[in-house]
Amino acid sequence: MRYIADHDLHIHTRFSPCSSDARQTPEAILAYGLTNGFRLLSLADHSWDMSVPCLSTANWAPLTEAMSCLPLPQSPKCHFVFGMEADMNYFNTLGLSPEMAEKLDFCVLSTSHMHTYGFGSDPEKHSRDAAERKSRYQERLHTLLDLPLPFYKCGLSHFTFAGVCVEDPLRWLQLFSDAELRDIFTKAAQRGAGIELNFDPDTYNAEDLKVILRPYWIAKEAGCFFYLGGDAHHPETFGGTRRRFERTIDLLELEERHKLPYVSELIARLDHGEESLGSRGL
Ligand SMILES: [Zn+2]
Ligand SMILES: [Zn+2]
Repeated sequence: MRYIADHDLHIHTRFSPCSSDARQTPEAILAYGLTNGFRLLSLADHSWDMSVPCLSTANWAPLTEAMSCLPLPQSPKCHFVFGMEADMNYFNTLGLSPEMAEKLDFCVLSTSHMHTYGFGSDPEKHSRDAAERKSRYQERLHTLLDLPLPFYKCGLSHFTFAGVCVEDPLRWLQLFSDAELRDIFTKAAQRGAGIELNFDPDTYNAEDLKVILRPYWIAKEAGCFFYLGGDAHHPETFGGTRRRFERTIDLLELEERHKLPYVSELIARLDHGEESLGSRGL
């Protein structure tokens, strides 16, 4: 059975500084979910769990501020849960404790925001060279996957994100050998973490699209599960999300058995009246 695009687990509100869009309200996001026939949405604002010390020059705002939108509006047709996009700073510290991860409905884990100077990269120490960036990204992914997190409800965000090395947005990815990618995705599969499908296939030419798809093919072969993340920061993105998801599902020949099990399990539990952090609030 073909993978059903019934969720979007990576959406930003106006709380994220890269959105700062007053139109990106929980109500507008729920309307987007209903328009597209999604059964599950999750917020993933950039923030930092302040129980984790952050020693980098810059940081995101406290997670407690992002929580000010709780409880989220709900519909029987579309559940709306609460998560975060937890980021890793240049000390390879993730801004999310295992205790807080247990409380969140879903955790988007990001190691690829290396274009954020003072946070993901130290301008004094880290070069912009594609080979150096690839090595650091590889180390950050392994560090992340060795953390004691509840990976069954966690996802590795936008693996192929250009932010790893904006100066050379595909070269760093080409420097990964198949074996190195297999090591990362085998570990992700063992942990049960989801792999996010976030890219827009229609923005690449045929050659570049092959480069973008290679890690996801390897992830699929390694036994990884996948979830969908539109990563909308503004309402304009909403219109194209469904098309992106469907095209990606076709390209990677994904079936329902490739979906992160937690997604369908959570929808079923919420259908049966269970509460989430999103519906209940704090
Ligand atoms: Zn991100
Ligand atoms: Zn994001």
